[in-house]
Amino acid sequence: MKVGISACLLGRECTYKGSSNKIEHICKLAKDIEFIEICPEVMGGLPIPRSPSEITSLNPLAVISKKGDDVTKEYVEGARISLERLKQNEVSVVLLKHRSPSCGCDGIYDGSFSHVVVNGQGVCAKLLSDNGMILFHEEKMNEFLKYIGKEEEYGTYFKD
Ligand code: SF4
Repeated sequence: MKVGISACLLGRECTYKGSSNKIEHICKLAKDIEFIEICPEVMGGLPIPRSPSEITSLNPLAVISKKGDDVTKEYVEGARISLERLKQNEVSVVLLKHRSPSCGCDGIYDGSFSHVVVNGQGVCAKLLSDNGMILFHEEKMNEFLKYIGKEEEYGTYFKD
């Protein structure tokens, strides 16, 4: 089963700080599975590094950087390209970075830049989920491993 993975979890230095969120065991797992990596923020045209952003409004959608720039268009475009790339590759299961305003699939920051987490999904995660994709994040690795049939080989490396 081919899966999608947030690129920063695989060690790509594509976060707003220009660093990664590399998790060694996800990198090991990636050598054993077919995957497509996505970084919606960069794919939508944002630079590395960049000012961190949060979703400040859902209706209408607004994503604003800490510097005050409106980056909604880039977030929406990155989500669209990510969905297209995953669909072209027949991917329907995606492992995403927790809490990101793009990739967060189970809770995001509240838009106040004060680390307050609220229910909700990042821009890309919402589009993927609206299109029927099954989403997991790195703090639910055992659920993800079970879903893709790799729990026996890799389950001991991850504690949810
Ligand atoms: Fe990682 Fe997603 Fe943010 Fe890219 S957009 S740095 S893949 S969390």
